[in-house]
Amino acid sequence: MKFSFSNPTKIQFGQGQIASINTLIPKEQRVLVLYGGGSIKKNGVYDQVESALDGYTWEAFGGVEPNPTVETLDKAVEQVKASNIDFILAVGGGSVIDGAKYVAASAKYEGEGWDILTGAHTVDDALPIGAILTLPATGSESNGGSVISKKATKQKLPFMSPLVYPKFAVLDPDVIKSLPQRQVVNGLVDAFVHVCEQYLTYPQNAPVQDGYAETLLKTLIALGKEVDNPDDAWRANLMWSANQALNGLIGSGVVHDWATHMIGHELTALYGVDHARSLAIVQPSLLRVQIDTKKDKLAQMGKNVFGLAPSDDIAEKTIDAIESFYQSLSVATTLTEHEGDQQSAIDAIIAQLEKHKMVALGEHQAITPEVSKEILSLAVA
Ligand code: NAP
Ligand code: FE
Repeated sequence: MKFSFSNPTKIQFGQGQIASINTLIPKEQRVLVLYGGGSIKKNGVYDQVESALDGYTWEAFGGVEPNPTVETLDKAVEQVKASNIDFILAVGGGSVIDGAKYVAASAKYEGEGWDILTGAHTVDDALPIGAILTLPATGSESNGGSVISKKATKQKLPFMSPLVYPKFAVLDPDVIKSLPQRQVVNGLVDAFVHVCEQYLTYPQNAPVQDGYAETLLKTLIALGKEVDNPDDAWRANLMWSANQALNGLIGSGVVHDWATHMIGHELTALYGVDHARSLAIVQPSLLRVQIDTKKDKLAQMGKNVFGLAPSDDIAEKTIDAIESFYQSLSVATTLTEHEGDQQSAIDAIIAQLEKHKMVALGEHQAITPEVSKEILSLAVA
């Protein structure tokens, strides 16, 4: 095992912590508050940010959409340059925080921002970012990943850079009281799949990473059972587990998968399916198609996470249990989240995967477009 691990994001956890941002952003810095469609104006978060920024020179950019687009974010980049912004404060879910990472990096690059997503430009500088998280799901508040879409070409691509980790992230569980149930469920599912993408590969004699991953999976399943009766502790535990699911720790020193995410991104880019829901459609079928290479880890997950008794078909039963978990949250596991013909969607997704060179996915790089097609065909209702 060989790895380098650093998570530089300071976490400010708990009720009332939004007020603490004035101890974390240098007073002389000009701040851009980046936010989404306006939920923060209805639930009091914007007001809290406004009070916390008393004494700062700051301005705002609203309208970052779910699955944020370059078309919108490039306007924020222009504002950053025109106003000589020093610090970007993202207030929202994964979309706003991912968007802030793009704006922070693009503002320091002379070329087209989209180059960062195609790989034509490697991020070499970025403005500092802070995050006030309003939707526990992506872990974006303390990682270096970002996923950005381009409306014009219906593309959705990720980039990673150590330079875009937020300097701090405020996790106040009270701010998620206003979340629609659909988004709460999305958060549970996205976090669950994040853990799986780093854990559900093959045994690597990594008991620390495995044990931590299994605790997160069990916690998320337990939270799923109480999704209709959240209290303060429930909200705090969801926020903390979704954060830990993708802050780098459980993924250190182990091989990752991420094929479910890469195929799921195309479903979102083409048809606007919610990110988490795209994952629930792809993952059970992917696990069934990949069962031979994932058998040992599926058996371990069955035993340690779902409490299944040893049996010849424990791997199959584990996949069934994962699928039942999503279905218990009323999340579909078939290609039924978009309008239109499922077969032609499969062809369109495969064409996109080829265009994006997503032709050797998974921990063994064995998921070719043919295998992706087999996976999606298994997900047809
Ligand atoms: P989101 O797209 O940020 O937000 C979804 C919806 O929830 C928006 O309409 C938003 O409204 C609303 N919302 C957020 N907080 C709310 C609150 N407290 N009360 C009421 N409504 C609220 O959802 P997300 O699941 O967090 O992010 C998804 C994006 O993250 C996708 O693009 C996905 O690909 C990406 N992602 C990134 C990573 C990573 O590591 N960086 C990992 C996985 C996924 P407003 O617009 O009004 O705020
Ligand atoms: Fe995700």
